[in-house]
Amino acid sequence: MNGNGKDDHIETGFLLRQDRLPHIWCPGCGLGTVLQSFLRALVKSELPLEKVAIVSGIGCTGRVAGYVKLDSFHTTHGRAIPFATGLKLANPEMKVVVFSGDGDLTSIGGNHLIHAARRNMDLTVICVNNFIYGMTGGQVAPTTPVNARTSTSPLGNFEPAFNLPNLVTAAGATYVARWTAIHVRRLENTMTEALHKKGFSFVEVITPCPTHYGRKNRQGSGLTQLKYYRDNSVIKHGAQLGEVGIGMTDPITVGKFVDIERPTFSDLQSRIRSPKTAAEVQSTKK
Ligand code: SF4
Repeated sequence: MNGNGKDDHIETGFLLRQDRLPHIWCPGCGLGTVLQSFLRALVKSELPLEKVAIVSGIGCTGRVAGYVKLDSFHTTHGRAIPFATGLKLANPEMKVVVFSGDGDLTSIGGNHLIHAARRNMDLTVICVNNFIYGMTGGQVAPTTPVNARTSTSPLGNFEPAFNLPNLVTAAGATYVARWTAIHVRRLENTMTEALHKKGFSFVEVITPCPTHYGRKNRQGSGLTQLKYYRDNSVIKHGAQLGEVGIGMTDPITVGKFVDIERPTFSDLQSRIRSPKTAAEVQSTKK
């Protein structure tokens, strides 16, 4: 039941590859919650499932591709976006979703991320940000807040962290939002909206990794981390993006930050291919 006393049950079990369960995620990890919000969003979006593909890179989040009963691809480290770009260009009818972690998307795959945003590739990118490389042992990532302890920054991280909404917006993304794993309904609604957005949509989800980030930074269990997000998140739609960076103990700004329209890569490509534009291009050469 939701707060209005209405039944908000959405069946999502048929979207999971039951033969692959149980999953590998640790107790208290936020990934299951994020995946469930995504599956609910997908059902609510009413997109034809045979035209939805999921692409993941490597890492704990990368496992998502193996658990969903859709056309899904578990690609190499950092290469989820170029793989998804190829898929979309080869089959423009597809709704292609990249579902991957902060290390995969913004470190190894950082160059692909900014260029896909610049081109306004018609992709939905869900970036699960737990501030760390989870699967490989909790190393420092480009998203690790200053002073946070990781297995490779035992005295505290001194490198400035990426402010991801600011980064992708500056690069050209047309839809940018951030929620945490405690904001399940808002996250679900945002993901539904992002799935319908034409162009490069980017949803960052702040998610607990109690095994590495939580333990090293004395943030307790996954549940304690979620309570921290609940008590320290500030909803600010359209926030000044220069101000939404995440520190160790600062409030976490969440909300929908960007929702604009501009031609996608495919729009521009089809213009150059149209006879009229081709003629115009030729005439400019004379
Ligand atoms: S290492 Fe962290 S991100 Fe990976 S499954 Fe465990 S809790 Fe989740």
